[in-house]
Amino acid sequence: MNAGVYTSALNSHSHAALIIVGHGSTLNPDSSAPTHRHADEIRQRGLFREVACCFWKEEPSMREVYESVDSQVIYIVPNFISEGYFCQQVLPRELRLDGPITQRDGRTIHYCDPVGIHPNMTRLLLQRADEVAPGVPRRDTSLIIVGHGTNLNDNSTKAIQDQVRLIREGGYGFAEVIDTYMEEAPLVSDWHTLTTAANVVVVPFFIADGLHSFQDIPVLLGMESEPGKALSQMEVFRQNPIPMHGRNLYYSSAIGTEALMADVILDQVHDFDAKHHTAPQAPAPIPGDQLRQALTSWLGEDRHIIGQVHITSESGGFHLRHLEDADIPAAQLTLYTQPADAREIARNDAQGEFRPIKTAPTLIRGWLLKLPDLSSLQLALEFLYPAAIGMALAQEKGNLQPVPLRHLLGRQTGMYRFANGITDTQSGEIIASFCKTETNCLRRIVWPLDDSQPLPGPAAPKLSLESGQVPGTPPTRCIPLLCMEACNHIVSVCRKVARENHDAKPAA
Ligand code: SF4
Repeated sequence: MNAGVYTSALNSHSHAALIIVGHGSTLNPDSSAPTHRHADEIRQRGLFREVACCFWKEEPSMREVYESVDSQVIYIVPNFISEGYFCQQVLPRELRLDGPITQRDGRTIHYCDPVGIHPNMTRLLLQRADEVAPGVPRRDTSLIIVGHGTNLNDNSTKAIQDQVRLIREGGYGFAEVIDTYMEEAPLVSDWHTLTTAANVVVVPFFIADGLHSFQDIPVLLGMESEPGKALSQMEVFRQNPIPMHGRNLYYSSAIGTEALMADVILDQVHDFDAKHHTAPQAPAPIPGDQLRQALTSWLGEDRHIIGQVHITSESGGFHLRHLEDADIPAAQLTLYTQPADAREIARNDAQGEFRPIKTAPTLIRGWLLKLPDLSSLQLALEFLYPAAIGMALAQEKGNLQPVPLRHLLGRQTGMYRFANGITDTQSGEIIASFCKTETNCLRRIVWPLDDSQPLPGPAAPKLSLESGQVPGTPPTRCIPLLCMEACNHIVSVCRKVARENHDAKPAA
């Protein structure tokens, strides 16, 4: 098999939006980076009318992302390694899905299988093994596929065992192929007794080079004595091979970082169409592009500020810069020219710390982003302030569906299932403390406490028209930043306070 020529056979879906769902992280950007890269690749191929991402732990959330796309037909592909708790419970709940096909708000939403269980993952594993040990004969190589193990990752063990079986039975020529895990036998830490070949290639079966694959597994393999820095803080990926126990150990980055994962995402759409007979038979009517029209109209009304970003129209294109840099000559700013550069600009604050809340008033200064057209502007704003344009438009049209805090907390499961145990008074105090416009978040909250009550007193400043932009900036010149549902930071704080309430109760 020549894995290098593999590309998805998916035909154009120019009538539809593709939404890729990732896990994300509030701690570092490495978790969401591959999902964004695969979206960039698919966007460049022009197969879909729109391509967007959303995350469990980052922005935009799964509720917000629907506001980012105009299309009436949506395909959702989970960028997850296995079926199980997230793909079977959390994602359908957060995305309000009824099953594989959901009709909602005039849209048809197709929910595809997660990437990790697609048969073409075998091709990626083979490609990754050859890349990480170039020129090393497979017959002299043991291939180890490593996963997390334990019930935490439920079906990921099965997904890995399936791949091991497929590679063994496929006759791909490795000396041996085995599965190992971080937390259950066979343990990855026993790799040197589990394998016999002179060369050992280890491929982590994870979506991203996050904590497990980049920091924990190298320690378990004995490559490092303690967890090192995150990938985003390293200059280069590790050097291979690493001589250990009289063998050559080759350690790969997570399989989900493989560029061909973009094709597996497309393959899941292809397979969904085949299974559910949903492929477009004829060009479908495409509705007007409401998001771009709204953007044009707002800029025409001189509303050219969004959050900490100042937009100017320049000879057919657009220039974006930090609001406080509006009067600084262009020559003194660092020039960027691609929409995806906005994602890099928005990633870290001036201290180099990751910004999980993109509406935190911590956008770095000193840059100028020159974009050629409206679609580039829309995409760049999507990276700077995820789903903000869509939410502002939905609010203007009266279509936004804010989620009351009690509804959000009440639907939590797993470790967050206690979060609704806060008192009404505590809800106001939490918002007043953690959503503070001046220091924490520029969004205006548009959700109530529950179906009949607004948020209590201390939260009032977050509900006024004066919030939703940098304090002191006239609302009439701004596209507002809205919060239609509390973010997962607030859910985490509510969970902590609710636990304290529970622990403080006198025993019955
Ligand atoms: S809940 Fe608060 S901190 Fe979170 S996005 Fe909304 S306004 Fe910002």
